[in-house]
Amino acid sequence: MSKIKNAIVCGAGGFIGGHLVKKLKEEGYWVRGIDLKRNEYGNEHADDFIIGDLRDPVVCENLFDRNIEEVYQLAADMGGAGYIFTGEHDAQVMHNSATINLNMAESSRKHGVNKIFYSSSACMYPAYNQEDPDNPQCSEDSAYPAAPDSEYGWEKLFSERLYLSYNRNYGLNVRIARFHNIFGPLGTWDGGKEKAPAAICRKVAQAKDGGEIEVWGDGKQTRSFLYIDECVDGVRRLMKSEFTGPVNIGSDEMISINDLVKMVAGVAAKKITIKNIPGPTGVRGRNSDNQLIYEKLGWKPSLPLVDGISRTYSWIKSQVDLSR
Ligand code: NAD
Repeated sequence: MSKIKNAIVCGAGGFIGGHLVKKLKEEGYWVRGIDLKRNEYGNEHADDFIIGDLRDPVVCENLFDRNIEEVYQLAADMGGAGYIFTGEHDAQVMHNSATINLNMAESSRKHGVNKIFYSSSACMYPAYNQEDPDNPQCSEDSAYPAAPDSEYGWEKLFSERLYLSYNRNYGLNVRIARFHNIFGPLGTWDGGKEKAPAAICRKVAQAKDGGEIEVWGDGKQTRSFLYIDECVDGVRRLMKSEFTGPVNIGSDEMISINDLVKMVAGVAAKKITIKNIPGPTGVRGRNSDNQLIYEKLGWKPSLPLVDGISRTYSWIKSQVDLSR
């Protein structure tokens, strides 16, 4: 019989963390989750859920009162464009997320964990390669010379380098993924930290048939969006592999924001008019380049965007209906 593995998931009260804990439990892990808050939608499956602040090194140390084989570091001060690109939260984002990573890298080293996963972001890619909405460049080797378009992206780049340094100097076994716009049920859908797919699903769910919704920017900016189950699958495959990364975990089905609205309206069977208004949008184009993940893991995500949108819309519509 194989021994049960113990894992810590930092950010377990968040969107991806909640889904990841569920997956680890299904795989037979003992899981300790930690977060500043509980999961808003009850997606809590950890054996032990600690409410704690990972900016406090003592809190981080105390997580290791038993032998821990794997750490998944997903905690970060983050949100969608309305949070990241206004500049109002820059100091907070950099300070909070960097402190969490400094603490967790050090505690994981001290306590000899076998492997630590770090969730970086496509936001670390240079803005100069993402000015053409039809042809963005986001292959892993295009990261330098660095020029992320937000402090959130700079912090991610710093922390990638932090974990890679721990790997080189202390032999800490790290795995790094650059997530590209993860979406799905049980994620933030209102309140200001929601991202484009959730915000659009909410606006369409709230709109009348034949109504109008506001969309930030000219709507011609492009992105790709990865469904949560595929993200979690990618994380597990990376952790089981011998490949350190950084590697993209994202979809390469690129779509403009206006076309995404049309897709959501189609799923909702509503006629919706788009009103493009000024607002924070980030780079003009972004798409995941999946060549490296395919080469290293023999895998890449495959769920069509419309299928993920359809599952997400149903869930957000149920939340909107409940809140009326
Ligand atoms: P999320 O905001 O839902 O989850 C992050 C969690 O970290 C939150 O629950 C938050 O309370 C927790 N946290 C923040 N500060 C903390 C602290 N000091 N101590 C303890 N917990 C703290 O975000 P998510 O979408 O689940 O993202 C998870 C990770 O993936 C983050 O690192 C994020 O930067 C990265 N990422 C996400 C996306 C995406 O599209 N969702 C894209 C790229 C990268």
